[in-house]
Amino acid sequence: MALNDFRPMMERCSNCAGCKFIPFDKIKSIRFAENCPSIGYYNFMTYSARGRFQLSQSLLDGRTQLDDTVTEAIHSCTSCGYCDVGCKVTRYNLETLEHNIEQKAYAVENGKVLEGQKPVIENLKKEQSMIPGTKKANRTDWAKDLKLKDLFKEKAEVAFFAGCKYSYDPKLQKIAQSAVKLLQSAGVDLGYLGAADNCCAGRAHQMGFFKEFKDRADANIKAFETAGVKTIVTPCSDCYHAFKRQYAKLGLNVKVLHVVEYVDQLIQEGKIKFTKTVPLKVTYHDPCHLGRLGEEYIPWEGKEKKILNQIHTWEPRRPRYNGAYGIYDAPRNILRAIPGITLVEMERIREYSWCCGAGGGCSESNPEFSAWTAGERITEANATGADALVTACPWCKDNFVNAVDENGNKIEVLDIIELVQQAM
Ligand code: SF4
Ligand code: SF4
Repeated sequence: MALNDFRPMMERCSNCAGCKFIPFDKIKSIRFAENCPSIGYYNFMTYSARGRFQLSQSLLDGRTQLDDTVTEAIHSCTSCGYCDVGCKVTRYNLETLEHNIEQKAYAVENGKVLEGQKPVIENLKKEQSMIPGTKKANRTDWAKDLKLKDLFKEKAEVAFFAGCKYSYDPKLQKIAQSAVKLLQSAGVDLGYLGAADNCCAGRAHQMGFFKEFKDRADANIKAFETAGVKTIVTPCSDCYHAFKRQYAKLGLNVKVLHVVEYVDQLIQEGKIKFTKTVPLKVTYHDPCHLGRLGEEYIPWEGKEKKILNQIHTWEPRRPRYNGAYGIYDAPRNILRAIPGITLVEMERIREYSWCCGAGGGCSESNPEFSAWTAGERITEANATGADALVTACPWCKDNFVNAVDENGNKIEVLDIIELVQQAM
């Protein structure tokens, strides 16, 4: 689609503000009622989904120019998808997230990108990694002492895909290593792509760099197909979303699991057993791309039509992604199964979860906005009285570890795999 194809949606938006707050019947306190980090931080209508629709109309009509201020506003969106869920509480015919990302692509096509985005995309093109400064030659170093089968040389039932963050960040590599050992100890026959392992480029898509995303996705799909991959398991929420939703749209036909889904299943089958107690009160952060954006891709082809020249609908009926079927129970089941852990919930959870701030490339391009967004979540986590904030995504973990809340408070941040490991 092109930006102009979203015009009917721009015109249909009813200015109801549902994209800015969690549903009114779910609000527990005014402090945690908002749910769009972008308008929350910049405090100006253009930064909300509603404002972004209006901005596109104005750009397409030639009333606004794509200057530096507008470029900054367009890219200051974490692509967290809350606006989309909030909008669909009452509306069925607007795709705010798809529009936000298309608007970014419009800016990218016109050469309007942020300085912080350039090294990320250059590194993706040169080294097939979204982390500036990292080299393709070192991508699989994290896996060298693991007995992962190279799927181009021998068969394995499941392909493990670590993603850039777990592959390169020395603080996070051990989590990917633990996840591999955990699955292997439960009898899972694991392989990986070896030299063909590259970035999923899901974040490039979130940032509106469609060509760079498509080039990488096509190459990765070919690699998965050549290696005969039937099931992919990943500990990264961004990779999970990329494979399950974006690659599926491009034709990848494999089963995609996040590590939490697999571990939950193995616990239920009795293949993972806990022997130690972990006395900790924790709260769980739902990563956007595992939670509300973790729903399965449903192929659809059809067209928009009007009933009585008034009501917009689609023929045949179109899938409605409203976050309800994201991955929420598996991580909570794991936490409840670990002896000694008490799970307390934050106010904004599941499809109404607040973003960690790292999405859409904002941790690189808009670090202050990104840190503020993470700090808001730390405030919310601290309000529960939890000892630790647990998540299932390396981008969330890193952003929380680096952030402090409005009072300068931090919280211990753990990947769920670290807790599983402690309890083994
Ligand atoms: S919730 Fe949807 S319809 Fe309401 S203002 Fe936001 S984008 Fe427009
Ligand atoms: S995707 Fe997230 S940050 Fe972007 S406009 Fe929607 S709610 Fe705000």
